[in-house]
Amino acid sequence: MQVTNVKVKLTSVPGEKLCAYCTITLDNEFVIRDVKIIEGANGHFVAMPSRKVTDRCPTCGGKNHLRAKFCNDCGGKLDPNRGTKDEQGRVKLHLDLAHPINQECRQRLETAAVEAYKVEVTGVRAAGGTIQGGGSGGGQGPRPGGDRAPRPEGLPKDEGMPDGFSSGIHG
Ligand SMILES: [Zn+2]
Repeated sequence: MQVTNVKVKLTSVPGEKLCAYCTITLDNEFVIRDVKIIEGANGHFVAMPSRKVTDRCPTCGGKNHLRAKFCNDCGGKLDPNRGTKDEQGRVKLHLDLAHPINQECRQRLETAAVEAYKVEVTGVRAAGGTIQGGGSGGGQGPRPGGDRAPRPEGLPKDEGMPDGFSSGIHG
C-alpha cells in the first residue's frame, strides 16, 4: 500500500495542538479524510479520524457520551465506571474509524502526512502568508485575524479599519 496523495488543510485555532487536517489517498483509489496532524512533545504526529464512544442510558435508552455523568434525556445518574478500559485502565473515549494495524504502516502514513504538512507550511510562508494558531508560545508573527489573505508587503496599518484589511486599499 502506498500513500499516493496527501491534501493538507492548515487549521487556525490559537492555543490548540491541532495543526492541520489531511485527506490521504492510498494506492490512488482509497481516501481517508480528517486525519489530524498534532504537535506533540517530540514533533508532529498523526491522529486517525475517530468518533466519540457513546453508550445507552440503562433507564431510558438515550445515547450519552461516556464522560457524561447524567443522562442527556432523562437526567438519570450514569455509572461513572462504565465503558471499556485500555491497558492503562483508562476508559476509551474515542474509537478510530480507520487506522493502520501495524507500526510499519502507521509510520508510512505518518511520514507522508507530516512531510506534506511541512511542505504546506513552507509554501504558505514562502507566499508571504502566516501560519495561525500554535499560539501557546505567542509572539511569533502578526496577530491572528486575517483569514488566509496574505497581507501585501508595505501595506500601511490602517488604524481605523474594522476587521480585516480588504477594504480601503485603493486610494
Ligand atoms: Zn436516560
